[in-house]
Amino acid sequence: MSKDHEEKQKLKVIQFDKSKNTLVETSQPQETFGDVGGLEAVKKKIRMNFILPLKNPEFFEAYGKEAGGSLLLYGPPGCGKTFLAKAIAGEIDANFLHLELQGILSMYVGESEHNLHDVFEKAREQKPCVLFIDELDALGGSRHNMRQHHERMLVNQLLLELDGLQSHNDQVYLIGATNTPWYLDPALRRPGRFNSLIFIPPPAEQERKEILHLKTKQKPQESLDFHKFAKKTQHFSGADLEQLINDAIEGALNRSMETGELQPMTNGDLSSALKNRKPTTLEWFSTAKNYATFSDVNKDYQHVLEYIKENRI
Ligand code: ADP
Repeated sequence: MSKDHEEKQKLKVIQFDKSKNTLVETSQPQETFGDVGGLEAVKKKIRMNFILPLKNPEFFEAYGKEAGGSLLLYGPPGCGKTFLAKAIAGEIDANFLHLELQGILSMYVGESEHNLHDVFEKAREQKPCVLFIDELDALGGSRHNMRQHHERMLVNQLLLELDGLQSHNDQVYLIGATNTPWYLDPALRRPGRFNSLIFIPPPAEQERKEILHLKTKQKPQESLDFHKFAKKTQHFSGADLEQLINDAIEGALNRSMETGELQPMTNGDLSSALKNRKPTTLEWFSTAKNYATFSDVNKDYQHVLEYIKENRI
């Protein structure tokens, strides 16, 4: 085992286990940035914001700046927000705490806030630590729209924790992900909280080619025309592409079973799979366009409008 690998083994990945109502250690994700197709600008930003500060804290100290901070990833479902966060855990020398908000939502009043507090405490104990909060939409909904008092309490608890992080320079790096940032409580977006918003778009043609390549790596195959399929899958998310490959694999497996011999995946398998798959990102863009056009007072979603225009959605 290499020294690097041994180091990584010592790092901890922690998740909330709803059945035990507690935080448990899980294994280090195997994904790295190499497994994430495209998204180069986002990877660069994450390197600058998270990875390099962890490696060079003395630079920040010299300028009296605190290393740390938060990112909020948003965009259509299936375009790699969670995948990217997992890859960060595989990439960096820090502990990684993955919080799926649904997991800590409890039916008992007060318990969810308690759980949330535990998660932040744990992140501080494990510093340096990346805390990834997935499905922020489950919680951050505008406080005015919330009917239930105890949901509102949970948002307030999150605000409290975010402010606590800011004032203590705890070397806890926060990444949030949501498909619907416009529903987030505006208080969550104030400076020092989730103020850095990053749009994760569907992959462009070259990126789709890369993802198709990554997802078919080491699978039995005839020479596949990635160029053609990347062209034909405009607006497909990474998850849509993965599904397409899975369908094509199923076709190849069926043929193998019929013939009794292992049959490689072919362009024909991919073409048949493509007939039954449509991109799932377009619905998101139609909602996002509404918000970006009529409700975007802070000009947060202009990137999305530009993307819609450039890609003729
Ligand atoms: P999101 O969090 O944006 O809804 P996920 O990160 O859960 O999407 O993506 C779902 C799956 O799609 C991932 O597990 C991964 O296999 C695939 N995927 C999405 N984007 C990419 C990408 N850029 N490169 C490789 N695989 C991707």
